[in-house]
Amino acid sequence: MNIMLERYNILSCKHYAELETRAAIEKLSVWDRAVHRFHHLICIVCRRYSRQVKLIEQATKQEIACEAGLNADTSQALSAESKTRIDAELKRVLDNEQRQKI
Ligand SMILES: [Zn+2]
Repeated sequence: MNIMLERYNILSCKHYAELETRAAIEKLSVWDRAVHRFHHLICIVCRRYSRQVKLIEQATKQEIACEAGLNADTSQALSAESKTRIDAELKRVLDNEQRQKI
């Protein structure tokens, strides 16, 4: 049983994260959905990760709607300070990745 779980990446948090990302942009196969769901049930860390990803997706959609002037709830919009902080952190991470490639 354990070998089967490992062989099909059911126990891998990394695989779960990959499926979580893919699920946001495409429909997963029945097997991948089952693996994702099973891991979701057994791993509290990945459940937290999933909640955080959904929160970020929701905030991003809301921010895009606010920037576009669409009718969105602006009470939870990011402050200018938060935007600056996120922008700086993204630039720092991208710069680090660029340096590692060189
Ligand atoms: Zn996990």
